Amino acid sequence: MKLPIYMDNHATTPVDPRVVQTMLPYLNENFGNPASRHHQYGWQAEEAVEDGRAVIARVINAEPREIYFTSGATESNNLAIKGVAESYRRTGDHIITCVTEHKAVLDVCGQLEKRGFRVTYVPVDEYGLVDPREIGAAITDKTILVSVMTANNEIGTIHSIESVGKLCHEKRVLFHTDATQAVGKIPVDVGSMNIDLMSFSAHKMYGPKGVGALYVRRRNPRVRLTPQIDGGGHENGLRSGTMNVPGVVGFGKALEISADGMEEESRSLAQLRNRLQELLFNELDEIYVNGHPEFRLPHNLHVSFIGVEADALMMEMKDVAVSSGSACTTASPEPSHVLRALGLGDDRVHSSIRFGLGRFTKEEEVEYVAERVIEAVRRLRSLSPGRTSKKSRSRTGRTPVPID
Ligand code: PMP
Repeated sequence: MKLPIYMDNHATTPVDPRVVQTMLPYLNENFGNPASRHHQYGWQAEEAVEDGRAVIARVINAEPREIYFTSGATESNNLAIKGVAESYRRTGDHIITCVTEHKAVLDVCGQLEKRGFRVTYVPVDEYGLVDPREIGAAITDKTILVSVMTANNEIGTIHSIESVGKLCHEKRVLFHTDATQAVGKIPVDVGSMNIDLMSFSAHKMYGPKGVGALYVRRRNPRVRLTPQIDGGGHENGLRSGTMNVPGVVGFGKALEISADGMEEESRSLAQLRNRLQELLFNELDEIYVNGHPEFRLPHNLHVSFIGVEADALMMEMKDVAVSSGSACTTASPEPSHVLRALGLGDDRVHSSIRFGLGRFTKEEEVEYVAERVIEAVRRLRSLSPGRTSKKSRSRTGRTPVPID
């Protein structure tokens, strides 16, 4: 067993060896620039990019020319939301999103507010689910965009995207979804889900980092976007910059592999995840699962261990790589906005750990992690039988970072 055990697959995933093999020739032999229109090197590179685009389009039920390559989901979110805001400003100045979105959506909305747009942040219930009716109620004749993520990166809650999309189409408002944690993991179909714009990223699905995509609907309705990066007019003028050819090739392969094995992989990951949950719950009291019991990503387990600081817990088990949504310093005591949005108290928020299982997680690793967690929780609880005090929260002194 290789230590530390990696259980942080929501943050990023290792590149699948089959993806690496597919990418390699595009780093050396076929290194051309697809924008080089006058020689073989360029043509080969262009063909590889178009093959990748076609695979990605097919998997999400789009047309290849509706896929625009970017540097990742952060850029895709920026292009989608700012692109719509700038393009439709004459129609309206109102955007609706959800309180549990990733910072790559929330911060973009915050920037737009500074530029005079109005943003409504719709709340979620105790499981992190948004009610489509609340979105419907927030729509006005000035609303130009609704942006709701498909699956949450912390607690794994899967929203009812189909209902939100249907509602947006009925009200003739554009619908964007940040599907970074969902594409390649659960079925996503831009047609049946009424999605107009969709952001996703290769490094969450066993592809390389630094390459993502934005799906932009061309018909019913045709979405108009203002480019956010100007330059050589690549990607139909919407996203200039030399194409990351090996990245796109790897992205295509990664999504193809994920789509082909999705059902089986989901089933086995859910089994492993449930096993981890069962092992923890059999041995520990006062622990709680955060997120939706049913509408949840199959590889996500988010647990609060009452009386234990998440930071201290992670320090106790350095051979296990997981994430926490708690604050790390008293200088900036800002815990996860997602956990706060669920209405959880300090005792749940500051003691929570996210386990993100993945394609390469083995059963013995799950058992090892469970053992280490149980041991560490017992030890920490025995050290502070009076439970966590607010003062002790800065023990590690690390700078807080938003959970990815
Ligand atoms: N949105 C969500 C929901 C994410 O989980 C992430 C990954 N941290 C991003 C956006 C940003 O993706 P990228 O790293 O490709 O910029």
